[in-house]
Amino acid sequence: MTEPMVAVDGLVRAYRTGKVEVPALRGASFRVEPGELVAIRGRSGSGKTTLLNLIGGLDTADGGTVRVDGREIGALSEDDLLALRRDHIGFVFQSHGLIPVLSAAENVEVPLRLTRTAPAERDERVRVLLALVGLADHAAQRPYELSGGQQQRVAIARALANRPRLLLADEPTGQLDSETAAAIMPLLRAIVAGEGVTVLVATHDQALLSEADRVLNLEDGKITEAPVPAAG
Ligand code: ADP
Ligand code: MG
Repeated sequence: MTEPMVAVDGLVRAYRTGKVEVPALRGASFRVEPGELVAIRGRSGSGKTTLLNLIGGLDTADGGTVRVDGREIGALSEDDLLALRRDHIGFVFQSHGLIPVLSAAENVEVPLRLTRTAPAERDERVRVLLALVGLADHAAQRPYELSGGQQQRVAIARALANRPRLLLADEPTGQLDSETAAAIMPLLRAIVAGEGVTVLVATHDQALLSEADRVLNLEDGKITEAPVPAAG
């Protein structure tokens, strides 16, 4: 038996603002196997971001456990958690967060500079990644010279720079028009195939779900398995 890439068990997280407690997750459990493209669907405010942040070790749960590639996130030291995030997990957020003064290629290179990757190898990795996301001819352009969809593609390439085993994408199409958005899921699919990455993508966009291997429904703080809708 291989380890699941992600194993979430009884995850609980509530936010306290003043006297009011907002429960975001109330015992969410699910597994994602290596090489799967899994969509998490839920309306706005259902806890998708909270869930992805906990899986990526950006937040701490009130109860339950998250294991990524066999490692329990909550049990790691600060250093081990940092190393896991740097080396094994890639993040794509709703707003791309690219550095405006850097070119597309330089943005993709940023995470590689945090590791001991030789310059020639860095250049080659950047070239491969920009080609993968269809931006081979845009390497020298700054983010403001790219469309929203192209910017998000650079962010995806950047997230893949250090060959993560797991890519977490939080509403990556949230700020894109529907036509541009529709191209992102096939790209994630190509990434699963080409890079062997497991992808977990949160979305409330119904149109994206048909590309997923599995759809998980997040409602009332819990996960249920949902059917993958037909395309179109
Ligand atoms: P989604 O990503 O699905 O829109 P979130 O995970 O962002 O959902 O939020 C889930 C719930 O937790 C919402 O009710 C939201 O208002 C609340 N919440 C999220 N982050 C915070 C925070 N930092 N402080 C207080 N409440 C929060
Ligand atoms: Mg969110």
